[in-house]
Amino acid sequence: MTQVSAHPKHFLSDKVEHFTESVIREMTRQAMQYDAVNLAQGFPDFSAPAEIKRAAQEAIAADVNQYAITWGAKSLRSAIARQMLEWQGIEVDPEKEIVVCCGSTEAMIATLLAVCNKGDEVVVFEPFYENYGPDSVLSGAKPRFVSLRPPQTAGGEWTFDEQELREAFQHQTAQHHTKAIIVNTPNNPTGKVFSRKELELIRDLCVEYNVLAITDEIYEHILYDGSEHISLARLDGMRERTITINGLSKSYSVTGWRVGWAVAPPAITNAIRKVHDFLTVGAPAPLQEAGAVALSLPASYYRELADRYRTRRDHLIPALEKAGFRCYRPRGAYYVMTDISAFGFANDVEFAAHLVKDIGIACVPGSSFYKHPKDGSQQVRFAFCKKPETLDEAGQRLEKLRSR
Ligand code: PLP
Repeated sequence: MTQVSAHPKHFLSDKVEHFTESVIREMTRQAMQYDAVNLAQGFPDFSAPAEIKRAAQEAIAADVNQYAITWGAKSLRSAIARQMLEWQGIEVDPEKEIVVCCGSTEAMIATLLAVCNKGDEVVVFEPFYENYGPDSVLSGAKPRFVSLRPPQTAGGEWTFDEQELREAFQHQTAQHHTKAIIVNTPNNPTGKVFSRKELELIRDLCVEYNVLAITDEIYEHILYDGSEHISLARLDGMRERTITINGLSKSYSVTGWRVGWAVAPPAITNAIRKVHDFLTVGAPAPLQEAGAVALSLPASYYRELADRYRTRRDHLIPALEKAGFRCYRPRGAYYVMTDISAFGFANDVEFAAHLVKDIGIACVPGSSFYKHPKDGSQQVRFAFCKKPETLDEAGQRLEKLRSR
């Protein structure tokens, strides 16, 4: 028998070779190892609303325990359509334009797999939510990054350069073609909420270059300082070229339920449904029923949710600033990006290691949100979706950093 060397690389896909392990989830593991306050991963450490937990228990007791219809339980799809009409004035046909997935994470990858071909490019603003790069690669596309620049003044906004964005759309060759832009508003990690003017520019470019928009709106209800969430699909000319992605995780504090969805015109929905069916068959049936109850909560629920997060933001930022961080004040979502230059560390990874081991707080190194690690080497991100006492404990531990 011929002996062939079983080099591990021989068995692996080239696609995976460039992926690093999720830095965010690795920081959560380190937080557990060092018994640190976990301000790294964006999951709440407080209870989900009682009425939706009850709805989930009732659905299980009522034996909603088998596969739901592949593209989502009717009750949840109807609730999604109702909410999009109520909040954004967008009319959606729940029979033809919605796919319920295992979290917005699956909705994003299923969408990219459904629309991308080899050689396609996907425009992504950076810093970016870390899944978008690998998602594009898995779908055969190449991400093309456009910078979001940090505010220059206290209280300023993250901005992008119009010309740089235009050039990303214009980058069309025989081999490369811009297929889509991913827009995440409110944004993780920056807390930026894209303005109408910015979204109109994106709209104009999508229409001019015949490009799709995939919008991740998972933080749509977490807004501060009077900022308004505008769905791209609501702008003239965008309804037929936008896939809107959302989910239960952030609005209802149930990140472990894994229920999310994509809303798109019928032909695209049809393609996403096929991919979704082969990827996961369906999202958890009883939790979809509870999701329908969640989406029927009154407007006051969302006001209180945003208010509670605003209080937490306004609690954490002064403690960080006192310790020496420069904070970029978020207008939405539940993260604060910070500049760590004042601490004199060579890079964000060394700083994050010191913070978790010696101070007892886990954060996410900024480089994990950039293509080139050096671009984020003086930034780290903190999540403030935590109980007030968790943030108090973090505040006390930050005192140690200050006196260092
Ligand atoms: N999109 C963004 C921008 C996120 O920040 C996160 C989680 O942190 C997700 C998607 C994941 O959402 P889901 O739990 O619905 O998969």
